[in-house]
Amino acid sequence: MTTITIVQGDITRQSVDAIVNAANSSLLGGGGVDGAIHRRGGPAILADCRRLRASHYGKGLATGRAVATTAGELDARWVIHTVGPVYQASGSDPSLLASCYRASLEVADELGARTVAFPAVSTGVYGWPMADAARIAVEAVRAARTAVEEVRFVLFDDKAYQVFAELIH
Ligand code: ADP
Repeated sequence: MTTITIVQGDITRQSVDAIVNAANSSLLGGGGVDGAIHRRGGPAILADCRRLRASHYGKGLATGRAVATTAGELDARWVIHTVGPVYQASGSDPSLLASCYRASLEVADELGARTVAFPAVSTGVYGWPMADAARIAVEAVRAARTAVEEVRFVLFDDKAYQVFAELIH
């Protein structure tokens, strides 16, 4: 049984087996969660990302996929990078956003991670409306068959926390 928990705060401050990064397809850094993870986790994470780009991920990481690196100096064993879809008012594919959660949990299972912290993928620079993104996230995690024991959604602000709280409780 996977337990879903929610906390308001900074995902880089979590003590978990794996921290999920809302990365971009280059894997070479960005703002938001990505910037915070690389800042606090130190250069080992970027070094791992560069190795991935030089090997199996020459074109970068596709939207909806996930891949792990070291967590550097974070209080975690791994960072799992996933690339959320950019929201488009003309129509965005919710299955790609759900895939981020599913793929990240698959990677977590391969690693043997039992506690995994997720940000609200795609709800920052990528523009996905929080209520919709939260519903997709929670449904995807609930539907996943995984050995992960705790999925912790880490929400940066009070509004996002409230949106997730209504879905969880
Ligand atoms: P994306 O590019 O997938 O939209 P962002 O990193 O821009 O990713 O934002 C994703 C969500 O993470 C947003 O809701 C943003 O407010 C939140 N966020 C930003 N920094 C942090 C952090 N340090 N910890 C947790 N959540 C964060």
